Amino acid sequence: MSNDSLRRQRFPTSVSRPVASPIQPSVVYASDDPDMLDAQYEGGLQGYTYSREGHPNATALAARIDAMEAVTGGIITSSGMAAVSLAILGCCQAGDHVLGGNQLYGRSLRLMSQDLPRYGIETSLADPTDIAAFRAALRPNTRAILVEVVSNPVIRVADMEAIAALAAKAGVTLIVDNTFTTPRGFAAIENGADIVVHSVTKLLAGHSDAMLGYVAAKDPDLNARIAEMAVTWGFTPSPFDCWLAERGLMSFDLRYSQAETTARALAQALSDHPAVTRILYPGHASHPDHNRATHLLGARSGNMVSFEITGGRAASNALVRALPFVPFAPTLGDIGTTLSHPASSSHRALTVDQRAALGMSEGFFRVSVGCEETAELVAEFCAALDTL
Ligand SMILES: *Cc1c(COP(=O)(O)O)cnc(C)c1O
Repeated sequence: MSNDSLRRQRFPTSVSRPVASPIQPSVVYASDDPDMLDAQYEGGLQGYTYSREGHPNATALAARIDAMEAVTGGIITSSGMAAVSLAILGCCQAGDHVLGGNQLYGRSLRLMSQDLPRYGIETSLADPTDIAAFRAALRPNTRAILVEVVSNPVIRVADMEAIAALAAKAGVTLIVDNTFTTPRGFAAIENGADIVVHSVTKLLAGHSDAMLGYVAAKDPDLNARIAEMAVTWGFTPSPFDCWLAERGLMSFDLRYSQAETTARALAQALSDHPAVTRILYPGHASHPDHNRATHLLGARSGNMVSFEITGGRAASNALVRALPFVPFAPTLGDIGTTLSHPASSSHRALTVDQRAALGMSEGFFRVSVGCEETAELVAEFCAALDTL
């Protein structure tokens, strides 16, 4: 092998710029000399060095989400759970207490119940739609509150106004997981969050092909600590996933508008259907938190609709089989509509009674509405329900 074959050539340059962002998979970057590298580390020169510490595809994606969340310096992470973990680890230490909503994403619940206690961080949960319960759950050592604005899969709407006031008064860091609501539905920082986190995997990237998270703290010192931790703990995103997500984000507004329009129509059609015993959509007058949803989310009610049918497992199997073109998959936010069944997936670890307490029977389904043509999708769901 000749030495020349191992010596990489300079990447071709061009006076004209590419319109689409290039993917930059290089793990490491070469500088001209030690002075230049010094200047890069000291901040005098902007330059990448090692991709765990940052790379252009992460920077480009973070800048886009920063603009949507009206913050600066947000950090892209390898998954939504990396972002949730960093948010808590960034502001808490052994001896602190974290208060969480009682209907958080399953893995966030596991982080609270299993992992944080092993590091000496106390945790407890309370119902975020009940401010009295939340206030009562505060402890003298409460350091952070973690809430989701709209819960999964029963789509309850947290009392964000009261929780933000409570956190501010108690000097507690308020972490908002804005995955379900997206920056279109809820302006987290403007509404009192100190830290906003996302599973970018879901609606923001929108195509079920990139796994990423995002975390941004309003306070620059806290944000810098979280950024350092991401590098040290290795919660770094892949350039290719960042590239896919940046591309996906180009159509986020269009996708969100279309999905929301269809979700509203689907919620109405499901509530009118005789096989459906109950629907949950914040924009529907029957929703238990409808008034709060209207106040918090305005005309925006999101793309998630849950509903319930009777007939036990046999009816649930029949319904899923009658909708073969709607992937039966435990995710959300894809450009196409997906259907999930918490009793056999996200909430299978709970007993029947525990699920019932959360308002989930065997016939409970959650729809993540995508961008299909509205009337057609509604007709497909109604036809499937007609077969029951
Ligand atoms: C999916 C999800 C997460 C975790 O995100 P991953 O990208 O799957 O790690 C966290 N919070 C909410 C609300 C989610 O829906």
